[in-house]
Amino acid sequence: MNTVYLCQVSPDVSCGACCGLYNVADPSRENLEAMLVRRTRWFASVPRTVAGIDAFKASVEGAEPQERPFPDFHHCPFLGMIENDGCRVGCLLHPLATGNGGVDWRGLSHYGGMACRTYFCPSVRHLPARWLTAVRQSMDHWHLHGLVVTERRLLAAIFTILEDRMGREIEITDFSEPAPAATLLTTLTTLKLHWPFRRRGAPGVCNYFFEDGLYPRPPVKREATSIPTSRFEELFHELDSGFSSVDSMERAEATIEGLLFALDMIRTSQ
Ligand code: SF4
Ligand code: SF4
Repeated sequence: MNTVYLCQVSPDVSCGACCGLYNVADPSRENLEAMLVRRTRWFASVPRTVAGIDAFKASVEGAEPQERPFPDFHHCPFLGMIENDGCRVGCLLHPLATGNGGVDWRGLSHYGGMACRTYFCPSVRHLPARWLTAVRQSMDHWHLHGLVVTERRLLAAIFTILEDRMGREIEITDFSEPAPAATLLTTLTTLKLHWPFRRRGAPGVCNYFFEDGLYPRPPVKREATSIPTSRFEELFHELDSGFSSVDSMERAEATIEGLLFALDMIRTSQ
């Protein structure tokens, strides 16, 4: 497995995607931030006992909407905030979390302590270290970070396009300070949040990345047979796209081309 660690990155960057963080009706940054802070405040006064923690879980689940884009993807009520020199998503049951006194309470979770301690998502296990390092170097907030980390095939599509365009593999220095390439990468990955060509009926930004075939991402939806395959087909597939006309697909292609043109500008100015 890769040794690039993306679960905890910096004071403001961490990930809770495999704990189901984004599998909520409103996965906006504002809503998730409010939810995580509220749970963390509640948890501060919870007795660290099995009964106390079980009661906290019941209270959280009773107070929050339980509708989910992916009903069979568990959303953990023990996701909260780590607030020290920054603010980022984290596990309230972790032994290092505030108030736990070094005791690991994750055995009380849905998946059990062993899974919580040892699971690594397919991106971390399979993507090349140079791509994961570029992600690590580029992200400055947990919300976008966790949204894109699990997007193994979207990241592969983006980095393949970037490397084809550059005519070489990316290097650590491409994403070091000052880092226009890092800005470009966050711009490309932010497309996932606000992609105007997302197909009708798509589940939204949450990604079901477990490799059990439960919720496969369908091919690009084309509402007319005249709409051809795109040179960015893989990217459009991973953005869960749908096109109503040739014109709408050409506008999507122009969006990507515009961002790649910015990459060419960066390279020629270096
Ligand atoms: S989804 Fe991957 S990067 Fe995120 S916390 Fe889980 S294992 Fe870590
Ligand atoms: S208890 Fe496990 S699933 Fe829940 S937030 Fe902690 S690590 Fe994630």
